[in-house]
Amino acid sequence: MINDLKLNLKSGLLFLSSKLIVSLILLILSSFLFQFSLIQVIIFCGVLILTDIVILSLIGQKRRSELDSIKKIIENIRINSFKSADDIKMESSLLDLEQEVKSMFLKTNNAITHLKKLEQYRTEFLGNVSHELRTPIFAIQGYIETLLEGALNDDKVNKVFLQKANNHTLYLNNLVNDLIDISMIESGKMQMSFRYFNAHEFLDGVIFELRQHAVKKNLELNLIPFENTIQIFGDRQRLRQVMNNLIMNAIKYTESGSVEVGVIQKGKYVKVFVRDTGIGIAENDINRIFERFYRVDRDRSREMGGSGLGLAIVKHIVEAHGSKVEVSSQLKKGSEFYFSLKI
Ligand code: ADP
Repeated sequence: MINDLKLNLKSGLLFLSSKLIVSLILLILSSFLFQFSLIQVIIFCGVLILTDIVILSLIGQKRRSELDSIKKIIENIRINSFKSADDIKMESSLLDLEQEVKSMFLKTNNAITHLKKLEQYRTEFLGNVSHELRTPIFAIQGYIETLLEGALNDDKVNKVFLQKANNHTLYLNNLVNDLIDISMIESGKMQMSFRYFNAHEFLDGVIFELRQHAVKKNLELNLIPFENTIQIFGDRQRLRQVMNNLIMNAIKYTESGSVEVGVIQKGKYVKVFVRDTGIGIAENDINRIFERFYRVDRDRSREMGGSGLGLAIVKHIVEAHGSKVEVSSQLKKGSEFYFSLKI
């Protein structure tokens, strides 16, 4: 922008000097034609030069004040004293420049806000991770110390303590695996491989592997019958992770009744759902359960080996399929999680 001003100044000077030369030529020609005296020619020249000097100095003053106002604005941006782009005001002759500076200011401000948010997000995430890691590590330490201090020889508690320590190591393992997944997803390093595959065969396989967990809790785990030729489009391995998380949650948070999995065709899409007859989720919590580490009942979740990251991972993977995971739930009646996939 300073260059623009210099250019303006140069073209002003050029204009004035060419004007001066043309006027002088005209004056000399007219002095021959109309036979002006030398004194008259000198007076004319003097007047011409004087007016040009006055005009030049006025232009110079104007440009200097424009430059000063630009310098002031740059300094204010540098020391962060503008609260909003509206605070940036230049002289009326510099409206285009004012718009440009405003849009640059907004762009930089947005980038700074984004960076600040990322920093806050990173600090929160680290805080959560340390907290989540500390709890099981302290618990394992506690059990081992108690065993070493004598409980090892007490047949009434030794196995119970070992079992509890083992549960915490399982939880740690889940947590670390989920942390690796979420950091891969959020840093955009998760590779997706999309293809068509048979929905029935896929869900049958997932349910087969998880049935033992339902059986342990006396729950039914069923695949609701549907057209067995339906081909869904997606990353099979990642969708397996989605279904695992949703079905395992349904089993974890259901005390009696059943967990049902199914597919409903809707034009060029299918709705994939997992529904249970479990504890349900309160309205206040529904919007938050997809946040990292959010649990309705922290102790209950941890007791069952939950990392609090399962639904955040589900959300990311489903979104990577161009879809959205949704939930409808009623307290003490049950929940349904569902999303769409292309067929
Ligand atoms: P967690 O590892 O704690 O299960 P998730 O991210 O998978 O973490 O789920 C977050 C929270 O959402 C859970 O702690 C639980 O409170 C709630 N939730 C998830 N699925 C269900 C469900 N099927 N029924 C009731 N509550 C659920």
